[in-house]
Amino acid sequence: IKYVYDFSEGSSDMKALLGGKGANLAQMVKEGLAVPPGFTVTTEACLRYLEEGREFVQSLWIDVETALERLESQTGRTFGSGPEPLLVSVRSGAPISMPGMMDTILNLGLNDDTRSALAEMVGDDRFAWDSYRRFIQMFGNVVKGVPSERFESILEEVRRNKGVALDHQLDAEALASLVKRYLSLYEEVTGETFPSDPWIQLREAVEAVFDSWNTARAKTYRKIHGIDDSMGTAVNVVAMVYGNLGGDSGTGVCFSRNPADGEKKLYGEFLVNAQGEDVVAGIRTPQPIGELTRVMPEIFEELKATADRLERRFKDMQDIEFTVERGKLYILQTRTGKRSAEAAVRIAVEMEKEGLIDRNEALGRISPEQVERLLHSQIDPNCVPDVISRGLPASPGAAVGRIVFDPDEAVAMAEKGESVVLVRPETTPDDIHGLYAAKGILTSRGGMTSHAAVVARGLGKPCVSGAEDVSIDLEGGRLLTEDREFVKGDFITVDGSTGRVIAGEVPLSLPSISDELNTVLDWADEAADLQVWANGDTPEDAKRARSFGAKGIGLCRTEHMFMAEDRFPVMQRMVVAESLEERQEALDDLRAMQVEDFVGIFREMDGLPVIVRLLDPPLHEFLPKIPELDKRIVEADSAGYDTSKLRKMKSRAESLREVNPMLGFRGCRLGIVYPEIYGMQIRAIFDAMSSLPDVNLKVEIMMPLVQTKGEMALLREMVDSIASEYPQASLSYLVGTMIELPRAALRAAELAEDAEFFSFGTNDLTQTCLGLSRDDVESKFMKEYVDKGIFPISPFHVLDRDGVGELMAIAFERGRKARPDISIGICGEHGGDPKSVAFCHSLGLNYVSCSPFRVPVARMAAGWAAL
Ligand code: PEP
Ligand code: MG
Repeated sequence: IKYVYDFSEGSSDMKALLGGKGANLAQMVKEGLAVPPGFTVTTEACLRYLEEGREFVQSLWIDVETALERLESQTGRTFGSGPEPLLVSVRSGAPISMPGMMDTILNLGLNDDTRSALAEMVGDDRFAWDSYRRFIQMFGNVVKGVPSERFESILEEVRRNKGVALDHQLDAEALASLVKRYLSLYEEVTGETFPSDPWIQLREAVEAVFDSWNTARAKTYRKIHGIDDSMGTAVNVVAMVYGNLGGDSGTGVCFSRNPADGEKKLYGEFLVNAQGEDVVAGIRTPQPIGELTRVMPEIFEELKATADRLERRFKDMQDIEFTVERGKLYILQTRTGKRSAEAAVRIAVEMEKEGLIDRNEALGRISPEQVERLLHSQIDPNCVPDVISRGLPASPGAAVGRIVFDPDEAVAMAEKGESVVLVRPETTPDDIHGLYAAKGILTSRGGMTSHAAVVARGLGKPCVSGAEDVSIDLEGGRLLTEDREFVKGDFITVDGSTGRVIAGEVPLSLPSISDELNTVLDWADEAADLQVWANGDTPEDAKRARSFGAKGIGLCRTEHMFMAEDRFPVMQRMVVAESLEERQEALDDLRAMQVEDFVGIFREMDGLPVIVRLLDPPLHEFLPKIPELDKRIVEADSAGYDTSKLRKMKSRAESLREVNPMLGFRGCRLGIVYPEIYGMQIRAIFDAMSSLPDVNLKVEIMMPLVQTKGEMALLREMVDSIASEYPQASLSYLVGTMIELPRAALRAAELAEDAEFFSFGTNDLTQTCLGLSRDDVESKFMKEYVDKGIFPISPFHVLDRDGVGELMAIAFERGRKARPDISIGICGEHGGDPKSVAFCHSLGLNYVSCSPFRVPVARMAAGWAAL
């Protein structure tokens, strides 16, 4: 088996074997771009190493040696000796990009001899010492686990002694002494002398990259992003080029389009006289790429042309690392750029317009989760925020939370339900759990491509990076601006769309949907097989649902109308009524109110279907709890008021009390036992319909919690006989049922005899299929179950395909068979969850119905499911 490939032997379609980085480097060589020469050790070699250990490296090594010989002849330099020593970088590259997760070692091949030779070769003693100390630090840290802080604190001390602020102000002599101290630190921590043999350096570095596939942080990243653990990583060995050879050298990172908003314009940053790590690690804050037009105009033009070319070749936005060595541009890496959701939408739409990709490809590039992110909060434009600092708008959206400096603490506080903003000078891959737990992120150092910025964009979390005018005192737990101080637990708001850092809690508002997003959602609708409807109870909900693109109301929960302040007392009167006359009186008042609601909703939904569900919750939900009533009776009594009404309410509450109300006197059982209640609601619906001669009505009346044919037949008869009271023969409506009990799912065929449509109420169906109380388990033990892997995720969030899903499949099949034109949808919360939507698509449902705010997400999910 061939384990080592020169760049000139690979291509971009060999990612599984060569890793993303290696495959793209190879492709660039193919395209004739200036890539430093090098070779790739394959992911297969990594996997064998992880299985067989060191032994395997013996046999691998012959190939590495010959590859290195080729590298020597290509560069005209020699590995491990002068006069022109060959130095290499060793970089990992998994098949799927895992930013910041794996490690890089630069300047490998240096020892005391080659360092002197390098100094001769480039005519710069200082540079050679600087390269050497960087190498010792990276090798020590990455390969041997010597803590970076130990190196940093020595560096800090040397800087202080010399009275300089920045590393590049240290002279050769200072760097030479630094090297000495680094070497003894290495010895102290590892108990070994630093390997001066470049072959040993290379071998240990390659092994370290292999090993880093299984570090905790790499595993965490893979877990969060659902990346396969069995891919392994490739190792790239690349001849070094130098960005720190003076004012005509430099290094940078650029994107072919803006990764924050998607604008088609070269975007990124660079540092003059620096090596790549300085940019990525956020140690020095770099200059925006546009400045290159001033500093190195030809390089800027060449870079721009290269970016264009790479984009056309890879048909996607590229994230490019480059180095300029004495006026010559080298491309070190290109890969598909991570981007914010906003940028993803704009780039997909514009690339489709440019003819670079087709519509389905464009659609496939925006996930439902990204659409969800676009509906993230923004700072309410009407408020005047107290801006304390401005940093870079690293990841869009706004977040409010309590300041927390420590990632572990961020996790702990988030678990308690607190919103937190993680505040750090900069972040590293070790902080990933904190970034994940936080609502937003603020760093005082680092640019748009710093670790915090990249990770935050991936997670869709608001992030402000490089807010340099705040200082962060980690030890003291303080965030300081020039004249103010904030401590842990204080509220702060970060606006990742503008870079503003704001004191306190600021009101947030939902953004409107951009034209580009609308375009994409229209494409999704075209691609989709199922429609997206919304659950809504008021005319405002209906209006919002329509504006988000809902094609109907799939569930109008009429009980929500009774919860309004002015209606609640009337509803209570109805519940407390002792005689039919008394109840009827209250119902008459309610009817007028319901008519008003229905008129509003029907009007908003002119031309689109509206499913009105009759009363569902147990009646005691409309009464105060008994202890509260006791308290009120005592209070009223001691104030000398008449308590008879309260006592009556209490005795009714007592008689309605249930041990398990979710399975008690609720749903259509109410309508069957108190036909006057459903009668009122049905009349209110028909009243409203009759009063709207100009509206194109598509009204459907839905029964909750039905499980037998007897119930369904009786309810259908009730609706039809009330309809016959109305003069218009044209009063057209449908009658249907929710499927939210296992028995209903199993007996779907006979229910379909009277029901003209089904709607899966998967909240109750999950509760009853699994025997899990929907109101209790989430707070009590669901987390334990998920942690123990019993459920991959709560079945109330993502539909349980194996259990609930099977009931749905049975109901679907039996219902359709009995009534081939029956319309079947879903209106449980799952209707807005992308994975559950995909399942509904595979079943063949007509529509999913979800909260109005989730409609765009569900539309995207429906489109995706059909791709
Ligand atoms: C359901 O049970 O899924 C449903 C939509 O009804 P509700 O949530 O009102 O019980
Ligand atoms: Mg229900």
